[in-house]
Amino acid sequence: MSMSDIKSSDNKTSAATTNVLDYAISDQNVLIVGGGHVGLSFALLLAHQGIASTLIEKNRYPSISPNEDVKRSHYLDCRNTALSRRTVQIYQQIGLWEALQSHACRIDSVQISEQGSFGHAKLNKEEENVESFGQVMENAWLGRKLLLAVQNSPLINIIDGATVTEVVQSQTDVTLIYDSEAGNEQRLVGNLLVACDGRDSTVRNLLDIGTTNYDYQQCAIVGVVQTDTPHQHAAIERFSPAGPLAVLPLTDAAGDGNEPHQAGYRRSVVWVCAKGEEQPYLEDEALFLQALQKAFGQRAGTFVRAGKRGAYPLTRVLAQQQIHGRCVIMGNAAHTLHPVAGQGFNLCMRDAEALAKMLARQVMLGEDIGDGAMLASYEQARKKDQKRVIRFCDAVVHGFTNPNPAVKIARNLALIAFDKLPNVKPLVATYAMGLKS
Ligand SMILES: Cc1cc2nc3c(=O)[nH]c(=O)nc-3n(C[C@H](O)[C@H](O)[C@H](O)COP(=O)(O)OP(=O)(O)OC[C@H]3O[C@@H](n4cnc5c(N)ncnc54)[C@H](O)[C@@H]3O)c2cc1C
Repeated sequence: MSMSDIKSSDNKTSAATTNVLDYAISDQNVLIVGGGHVGLSFALLLAHQGIASTLIEKNRYPSISPNEDVKRSHYLDCRNTALSRRTVQIYQQIGLWEALQSHACRIDSVQISEQGSFGHAKLNKEEENVESFGQVMENAWLGRKLLLAVQNSPLINIIDGATVTEVVQSQTDVTLIYDSEAGNEQRLVGNLLVACDGRDSTVRNLLDIGTTNYDYQQCAIVGVVQTDTPHQHAAIERFSPAGPLAVLPLTDAAGDGNEPHQAGYRRSVVWVCAKGEEQPYLEDEALFLQALQKAFGQRAGTFVRAGKRGAYPLTRVLAQQQIHGRCVIMGNAAHTLHPVAGQGFNLCMRDAEALAKMLARQVMLGEDIGDGAMLASYEQARKKDQKRVIRFCDAVVHGFTNPNPAVKIARNLALIAFDKLPNVKPLVATYAMGLKS
């Protein structure tokens, strides 16, 4: 049975919503626009608190049978996400980690260095006395497992293939108007609307919320590579004149005819080059491998194969406000960041967890989940963590791309100091793992 068979047909919307509310601890409900990783995760966090939601997604989801054993993604499939320890804890708390962990690869050490410089820094899990610094997860696996969990939740109603056209707010509720794939105009009423519809958020535009944008003039090329040396669970961050480069460990992929290359030779790469220069690296595997080798030296051994690459132009997009009446802007719709430090999704997850907990408290107290004062306090509570992560990502990008020789020497000294000063590493590690906000 496909997910669309279960919940997405438009003419079943109102009935499905009624059934959903039968399981909820309150008759208040949340409308979530955008079913990417953040929207799906937020719906699951709400369900964990007993709060019903309806998830409205623009695209049709693929059919996934609940009984189908989800196949391992392709050996060199392209996108991966570094999950911080905090994000892993959040998935553990909602009982999802068990399903996710078979495709998650532990990060035991983090190495930071710059091409053509002597300074470097290393974080080890033993020294920092932690289980790991986080896990690297295949996006395809994360998406499918989140979707299956959402599909199986009695508290989440899914409407996919829906184009949002209007948001109307009143004192007591919010109405979402959308066009179904069949071209029919439909309406949904909720107590709160949460927009998780990505960087170019339609809801944010409909609410007339402005953004502050910055074009890094860079493009991230992502892919999976194979090296001749096992990764030993090391995450390696390298800064080169072309841009930052991160190589992360991945789990093996069995059953695809690549068994001789198993046991830790598979890695995820995020390589950043100047905007407009990406095309040859997408088309020519040998050229891409050569560029990686040049930037990286032998830190990861020899790069021997690369899978299909994807390109992402890099912009920072920050919503000027994250609350508007009964609407909350979340995920990339609220803050799209440079991927240099692998912080974007992790920050979104901390936002999602915080809001889910505040809504649960409102429900427990019998209060309105769209209450303006409560939503304002959510925005206020999340500001510090968001600002810190945004500043950190920017400082890393700008600090390491400045070619000025004096700045380069300062960077070297900073890396050496970071490596040697006793109290700095644990603090940075704690922030990078998302354990402090
Ligand atoms: C190269 C790269 C590497 C990254 N690596 C990491 C990492 O290692 N760690 C990390 O923490 N973060 C990382 N990030 C950031 C992370 O990918 C994002 O923060 C995350 O994907 C945001 O998810 P989202 O659900 O908010 O947005 P999206 O993934 O953009 O999802 C938005 C969803 O909304 C839907 N939608 C859009 N418009 C509408 C509409 N009008 N109506 C209904 N639905 C709509 C879309 O179809 C989509 O499903 C990386 C980003 C990049 C570019």
